Amino acid sequence: MIEGAAGSWEVVVGLEVHAQATSESKLFSGAATAFGAEPNTQVGFVDAAMPGALPVVNEACVAQAVRTGLGLNAGINRYAVFDRKHYFYPDLPANYQISQYTLPIVGEGVVRVDLDDGSVREVGIERLHLEQDAGKSLHDRRADATWVDLNRAGVALMEIVTKPDLRGAAEAGAFIRKLRAILRYLGTCDGNMEQGSLRCDVNVSVRRPGEPFGTRCEIKNVNSIRFVQQAIDHEARRQVDILEEGGEIVQETRLFDADRGVTRSMRGKEEAHDYRYFPDPDLPPLELSEAYIEAIRADLPELPDRRRARFVEELGLGEYDAGVLVAEKEVADYFERVADGREAKTAANWVTGALFGKLNESGLKIAEAPVSAEDLGGLIDLVADGTLSGRLAREVFDAMFESGRPPGEIVAERGLEQVSDADEIEALVDSVVAENADRAEEYRAGKDKLFGFFVGQVMRASRGRANPKVVNDVLRRKLG
Ligand code: ADP
Ligand code: MG
Repeated sequence: MIEGAAGSWEVVVGLEVHAQATSESKLFSGAATAFGAEPNTQVGFVDAAMPGALPVVNEACVAQAVRTGLGLNAGINRYAVFDRKHYFYPDLPANYQISQYTLPIVGEGVVRVDLDDGSVREVGIERLHLEQDAGKSLHDRRADATWVDLNRAGVALMEIVTKPDLRGAAEAGAFIRKLRAILRYLGTCDGNMEQGSLRCDVNVSVRRPGEPFGTRCEIKNVNSIRFVQQAIDHEARRQVDILEEGGEIVQETRLFDADRGVTRSMRGKEEAHDYRYFPDPDLPPLELSEAYIEAIRADLPELPDRRRARFVEELGLGEYDAGVLVAEKEVADYFERVADGREAKTAANWVTGALFGKLNESGLKIAEAPVSAEDLGGLIDLVADGTLSGRLAREVFDAMFESGRPPGEIVAERGLEQVSDADEIEALVDSVVAENADRAEEYRAGKDKLFGFFVGQVMRASRGRANPKVVNDVLRRKLG
């Protein structure tokens, strides 16, 4: 909802997400797809639209699309067709893109999105189709020329289209994060938005609550979650301002200017819409057998929703912790290695508390964490078996993070083993009580609050190593 001068407006968003299918080679050619290669070194004849070159569909990309469709709880169409979508662009050598129009490979599905307030939104998926990416025009290399890099031309994209089920920027952000997690769990798209593997066209309209949908504008090719959210906020505000002044929204394609945080008009929808789609005569329809689809289904990994439910039901974690842990596959994998054979709640606390804190502070990703899951597990074991006090464990963890060394080494080197030996602790207690004879008297005279003071003094005298339970027992005996 956003507030206008005359009451509130609901923001309606639908996304068209272009996800690059993880694949060694392109959708219709054998050229490689590695990111960051020298310009024009990964271009097949088909990608360059050489006369006579014929496309052959890459089965690996088809499998990725089916796998993704199943992960989005969507129906797979056993009969799908590749169409030519015509438009002229210097980095599109054939002057058409091979896409899918009336018969895409994947039909309707649904993605469950958990919102910050604890509620759940089911976002409808309209379709997923396979299509080629275009090349890249490089305008900034020379003042007087534009260069074209065809490395990306022909790379397989999965275009995932949502229904207009999202209500505002926060929900759109949560949806993209969830979709990205699913794609990464599936291994069908690396989800790296900085490298362009995941890009969004963002459709935005506004309406008074309860009224029919308003006219939408489409903001093209937004490549970060933050920009998607800024674009939605800005665009919704722009539309509300127009409507409240009695104007009308014109359906059009707009661009998001990240530097200025605004959207601006790129082209009217009418001019852009005549793509003259027709089935590509060089490509036979895709016919998928039930057995083919079922084999892919049988091979699906555990996805975030199921994993979260398992963390709650089998490991006894809270909904919130479980949600945080499954949001990224690497984090969930790391956590499960830490929790293996240990108390899950303790493992979760260490991962979401100490580890996340340090990772944030240092700007590292979980894959770069200097502390391995096995070493963190070892640290938890040292606390569980009484070698290390909970308080010192945090200090040891910090040292592990600094040095990458295992906990045992650090504990031994710094002499941090917990002291549970009653005689040793008794000696400490005796000297603390002797040094504070007056307070001991006050305590005995009934000032109970001083007990904590004595515990603190003994802990300090032991440099934090004394077992607090033993300290308590001995103190009670000596002061009692
Ligand atoms: P087109 O093919 O012209 O792009 P679609 O009907 O396929 O149009 O819709 C494209 C996207 O626009 C979808 O993600 C859909 O959810 C979204 N959309 C449709 N109507 C609206 C609306 N009124 N407000 C916001 N988004 C919308
Ligand atoms: Mg569109």
